[in-house]
Amino acid sequence: MREVIAYIALGSNEGDRERHLRTAVDRLALTPGIRVLRTSKLVESELMGDGPQQGLFLNGACEIATTLSAHALLSVCKALEQAAGRVLPSLRNHPRPLDLDIALYGDERIDTKDLVVPHPRMHERPFVLDPLRELGVAESRLQARSAEARPRLITSTREFQATCSQWIEGGCLTGLVPTMGALHAGHGSLFERARNECDRVAATIFVNPLQFGPKEDLAAYPRDLPGDLRLCAAAGVDVVFAPPPSEMYAPGFCSNVDVGAEAETMEGAQRPGHFRGVSTVVARLFALARPHRAYFGQKDAQQVAVIRRLVQDLGFPLHIVECPTVRERDGLAMSSRNVYLDANDRAAAPVIARALRAAQSAFARGVHDRDALIRVAREIIEAEPRAQIDYLELRSEGDLLPMPSGPVSAGRMLTAVRFSGGRPVRLLDNMSLREGAEQASS
Ligand code: AMP
Repeated sequence: MREVIAYIALGSNEGDRERHLRTAVDRLALTPGIRVLRTSKLVESELMGDGPQQGLFLNGACEIATTLSAHALLSVCKALEQAAGRVLPSLRNHPRPLDLDIALYGDERIDTKDLVVPHPRMHERPFVLDPLRELGVAESRLQARSAEARPRLITSTREFQATCSQWIEGGCLTGLVPTMGALHAGHGSLFERARNECDRVAATIFVNPLQFGPKEDLAAYPRDLPGDLRLCAAAGVDVVFAPPPSEMYAPGFCSNVDVGAEAETMEGAQRPGHFRGVSTVVARLFALARPHRAYFGQKDAQQVAVIRRLVQDLGFPLHIVECPTVRERDGLAMSSRNVYLDANDRAAAPVIARALRAAQSAFARGVHDRDALIRVAREIIEAEPRAQIDYLELRSEGDLLPMPSGPVSAGRMLTAVRFSGGRPVRLLDNMSLREGAEQASS
């Protein structure tokens, strides 16, 4: 049986602290599959972080050789904590008779719901680091902070797949947020939603060549990995998967996902092949990550409709979460492409949101005729000489199917508008008529 050298951090700040720690080490030594090799000296420390008034901790560490798996070792530690009188699960930062944490387990990196090794907060705790140093743990292993810092940057599909599998098999609810990078607060809102709902969050940053047409802005698409990593860190993203195209599409890659009706009009008509590229990369990401939940922005409402169709038709066992559009103060929907706008176009661009809101207000005032609602928005955009409408449509909510002319009881207005003062930019936006009704009546 393979023996692994592991280090267990010891702590106690309730009752006879030294007796609790010594008893725990003695019982570890009596456990089949564990040999205690050495124990550090015990030193006092104060509670780190917030918590009720309480006594000083007594801390140390012990080095063991074990044939137990990391999770079996965790069960032993929990049983010893309970035997010392600790009630589990215990309140965070409350006094405890015994605290046993697996700091290191060989060189393994373990990331599951109930066990993360190396211990994620080890690096900031002198009361763990000092005893480990005394036991001869190499400084490089103690300071390997960057390896544990969040988010972890992964560029290989194999490593991404293995990490997501470990999360899933370790009982984590996982969330995936696919992006093309150049991240802004709109993306940030997706990360935060995922962070609130999932145990682990993976963001992907991949400017997907398959979804760009030959005359589109693939090479010029904004890229800022360092800035993206900072935003992901602030939003609590666990892993950023940013593969090179060769990782996503191995030589000879020739499978594509083609979604039907949802992908054929509006963006699909303007950008032939676009949704085929989107569907293919999203299906590939779903297959790699196998997330429980995947987060998409309502700003790209047709993209969400296409992905919903794909998930339903191909049977991916996951839940699509659609997040509201985040806007600049003047109403412009946030987009990575907004940086392309020159100053004059940027000043003109909020006309899109104004036009959609005007349609919402008209609907709230009782204008329910499809074409009249479209006219309200169209006239506002057309009054802006810098803006050129690619399409402006009123579609059914959710599935975005075309609606016949005449009265409508609900719907979503979608548009793509071009600005060409500086670099040519197409901006997308959409709003639900009902949102307007709710806003107007609240
Ligand atoms: P992108 O990087 O542009 O492919 O966008 C990645 C994801 O973020 C997509 O699901 C978008 O719909 C979403 N997203 C982009 N901009 C916004 C925004 N302003 N508000 C909310 N979600 C957004």
